[in-house]
Amino acid sequence: MEQGMMLVISGPSGVGKGTLAKRLMEEKGFAFSVSCTTRAPRPMEVEGKDYYFITEEEFARKEKAGEFLETALVHKHHYGTPLAPAREAIVAGRDLLLDIDPQGGMLVMQKVPEAVTVFLLPPSWEELEERLRRRGTESEEQIQRRLHNAKREVDYLPHYRYVLVNDELDSAYETLAAIVTAEKHNTVRYRPEFLKR
Ligand code: ADP
Ligand code: 5GP
Repeated sequence: MEQGMMLVISGPSGVGKGTLAKRLMEEKGFAFSVSCTTRAPRPMEVEGKDYYFITEEEFARKEKAGEFLETALVHKHHYGTPLAPAREAIVAGRDLLLDIDPQGGMLVMQKVPEAVTVFLLPPSWEELEERLRRRGTESEEQIQRRLHNAKREVDYLPHYRYVLVNDELDSAYETLAAIVTAEKHNTVRYRPEFLKR
């Protein structure tokens, strides 16, 4: 059986990672890697679906026990990708999507070189600010912190395999789907039994 694809999507908060991720799950059968975080849930977020919302103590315990593929401190909160479910999905041949920040993205590149990495950019900083405001899930202070961080996060862009500007949603999704289709044919994931000697 072929291994699943690990797809990492990074980019500034509000750029549209979650929106595109949802569509890849609906239309391309991707599983979503549910992260652990110490931040508070937003009103519409569901425990175990969007995140596992855990305490600082629980996060530290899991990190020490080696339960994360990667962790990062983002906007003053801890985030981590649980290792066991990620490994299980890939080995079972399921494609897995990680919506993680660029620090985490860099760690995944080291540990999983065959991971497909996509950096998502907004059409402009003004549009990014607009989207964050329209989403309406952060306070003004949090929005400003996220915008400030966004400009530093873009420094990591050259380390990613693909870059994609999320201008018009449908066309950005089409491009992302094309990347996925091409990467399905990447030789790193092609290990049919009859070729094994
Ligand atoms: P992220 O997960 O990167 O923080 P979201 O997916 O939550 O971002 O998107 C932030 C906001 O921008 C949401 O309200 C979403 O509906 C909107 N959005 C996403 N993509 C686009 C797009 N291409 N054009 C306009 N608005 C968008
Ligand atoms: P948010 O709080 O808006 O859901 O996410 C903030 C940032 O944390 C986003 O850039 C998101 O991609 C990132 N993030 C979410 N989960 C993880 C994770 O498990 N690891 C890392 N490194 N970043 C994460």
